[in-house]
Amino acid sequence: MRCERCDQGDREPVRRAKTAERDGRIAVVLDVPMEECPSCGDRWLRWEVASRLDELLSEMLAAGAEVATRHYDQRGAVPAA
Ligand SMILES: [Zn+2]
Repeated sequence: MRCERCDQGDREPVRRAKTAERDGRIAVVLDVPMEECPSCGDRWLRWEVASRLDELLSEMLAAGAEVATRHYDQRGAVPAA
């Protein structure tokens, strides 16, 4: 689909990491599926992906680890080594 922002590139499906920070703690979700414009770098998340991502990041931050990482498709948060 044509990028609405720059009208120069076609959005392509990619997987990227998303990070959230709260009170000095960091949560990272890897392999989040989204679309990216190769021309301007703009990214789009589907509503259900954004919603699940919010849920995951809040869960991970609430769990209390200083740094937590997980894959988007994986069940349960794992503390980073
Ligand atoms: Zn673009």
